[in-house]
Amino acid sequence: MYLHELTASVRKLDGIGPRRLKAFSERGVLTIADLLLYLPRRYEDRSTPRALADAATEPANTIAQIIRHEYFGSGRNRTLKLIISDGTQRAALVCFNRSFLADAYPPGTVVRLSAVFEYRYRELQTASFEMERAPDEPLGPPYEPQSPETEAFFRILPVYPLTAGLSQQHVRSALDQALKRWGTRIKDPGPAELCRKLQLPPLADALHAVHHPPSFSDAERGRRRFALHELLGLQVAQRRLVDRLHGEHRTPVAPPRGLLAVVQQRLPFSLSEEQQRVLDEIIADLGSARPMARLLHGEVGSGKTVVSLLSMVPRLEQGQQAAVLVPTELLARQQHATLRRHLEPHGITVELAVGNLAPAERKALYSRIADGTAQCIVGTHALISPQVTFSSLSYVVIDEQHRFGVAQRAALRDKGVAPDLLLMTATPIPRTLALTLYNGLQISQLRHRPPGRATVTTHLARCSRRAEVYTNVAARLRHGGQAFVVCPRIDPDGNAEQASAESTAAELAGSFLSGFSIGLIHGRLPEERKRETMQAFSEGRMQVLVSTTVLEVGVDVENAVAIVVEHAELFGLSALHQLRGRVGRGLKPGVAFLVYDENLTEEAKQRLRVLHREHDGFRIAEHDLKIRGPGELGGVRQAGILRLRFTVLERDLDLLEAGSPAVEQVRAGSPLDQSLVPFLPFDQEDACV
Ligand code: ADP
Ligand code: MG
Repeated sequence: MYLHELTASVRKLDGIGPRRLKAFSERGVLTIADLLLYLPRRYEDRSTPRALADAATEPANTIAQIIRHEYFGSGRNRTLKLIISDGTQRAALVCFNRSFLADAYPPGTVVRLSAVFEYRYRELQTASFEMERAPDEPLGPPYEPQSPETEAFFRILPVYPLTAGLSQQHVRSALDQALKRWGTRIKDPGPAELCRKLQLPPLADALHAVHHPPSFSDAERGRRRFALHELLGLQVAQRRLVDRLHGEHRTPVAPPRGLLAVVQQRLPFSLSEEQQRVLDEIIADLGSARPMARLLHGEVGSGKTVVSLLSMVPRLEQGQQAAVLVPTELLARQQHATLRRHLEPHGITVELAVGNLAPAERKALYSRIADGTAQCIVGTHALISPQVTFSSLSYVVIDEQHRFGVAQRAALRDKGVAPDLLLMTATPIPRTLALTLYNGLQISQLRHRPPGRATVTTHLARCSRRAEVYTNVAARLRHGGQAFVVCPRIDPDGNAEQASAESTAAELAGSFLSGFSIGLIHGRLPEERKRETMQAFSEGRMQVLVSTTVLEVGVDVENAVAIVVEHAELFGLSALHQLRGRVGRGLKPGVAFLVYDENLTEEAKQRLRVLHREHDGFRIAEHDLKIRGPGELGGVRQAGILRLRFTVLERDLDLLEAGSPAVEQVRAGSPLDQSLVPFLPFDQEDACV
């Protein structure tokens, strides 16, 4: 059987009830295939046995015996200490709030143990350890584990991303079951020749290598096998889109420019030279024999929205429909407001299609779209839903297009008859990747912000200097400005986001920013609440908006002058650049404070330095690729370049090149073609943000 055929729900596995099912699905794991492709965040090296005698400097992985129980403290603070020895050294396991361990581990018990110790109170101690009973194991060096049964000791241990209600244990146990039942029976879909050439293992071996790696290099080869599939999948999808585009012809007709001139004249500003050039490129495409397929690649804040708005006017003037697809409801509402402002005075109806409409309202809207009463429609994923049909969709704009899968982009386009397609993104990607993925698209660039726009200054600040940061912010608020405060969406262990945003908002209200009106937005809030808060903020009724990275893309509030990013070290380069682009959009200069924890990895340090000195998004993207070192597994996603799950671009560009010829060999519906499906970076999560 092939991996892509494992579409049964993970619910089939032991230990997965409704609660766990929900937690898994939050992480995008619905089917057995999804589970098998759930990649560890990192690995912990427990493969080398190491005696307690060496435990002061290195993590210990040993077999030890419980010698006796001791207690310290009194009353409710009475704490159990397990004194252990492995024959080389004694040490203490401090069991805070875990006195129950006394019964499970009486003196004499032999255990496998993995822990990081330190010297405290003149003994070798740890409060964070993992152990399991190992009655048959002999103590003492050379620690050659006798029993191969153990899952978590004396091996390289995968550490998975988690979420509330999901522990390492849950993930490991689910994976062990899945691997046992299906792991060895998975047929390899190929491309066999290519994998041999690249020295990549068959798919079944790759699955084992990723979840039970005998060595780090095996794990890496396994991951690269996944990456090959992911990249092939992207290329095949892109190729199909382009082939279709090239197969379409129409009678060239010069587009009307009358209404366009009027709308443009009434803008509150004139277009920059760059914007005008790009607009002209697009209008010229509208009159050509082939439908347009153009990528507008623009710096953050370069004014893509107004260009796309103007570019759809000729089609609207001809009585046809235009659709704008955006990744979040927040952005949909913002764009809807902008489009209405500029188009409705000219008699064009602008509608909003988002997910949670009342059934009657939705029905009415869909029928206005179907009969053509609705002329310009802005929406989220709701627009792609099969119930939405258009009467004459001839122009499609996809904003923040990297947030959508190729299939989603194609789905909207397919609702029209060979419509013109404008894809927009502020996220530059490396050239090699662009050549492959955008193969067949025309490319327009906006490299600068419109002249006369304000600048943004970036400050780096240690956590310990937060008070100063917020004093500065408060001063700007008193001068009538507004500010964003951004908290990480997910902490390194995958804990839920709202905790950090909520506690930060409460903290600020009670201290540094007391007296100002503070709003809160995070992904778990109902859309309605998010919308009201966002609206209050953009109308200036609220001075501070605390949020998670929901803000990352596209939010446009001219009066926002300051942004504070808490735990900036946890964000990727492009995400930070995007966030910084949320201020200084009007005429007032902006300031961005990147607040970081003193405990920085070398990579994080470099990222912050780059942001401090670089303001050009294209150059930042180049750095992005260089910095992310081999430490990270699925780090690309965090960096926001593309929603790639398995690929680490700086290590896998060779796969892209080597795989290109294979793209031609992938026959629609063949096992190889089907096998690419579970690897495609289609993001569930975006649908609900
Ligand atoms: P992005 O390219 O990041 O999507 P937007 O389209 O949201 O940027 O534009 C950023 C801001 O710049 C908006 O407030 C917009 O009204 C303004 N803007 C766009 N073009 C011009 C221009 N030519 N002159 C002045 N302001 C402009
Ligand atoms: Mg935008």
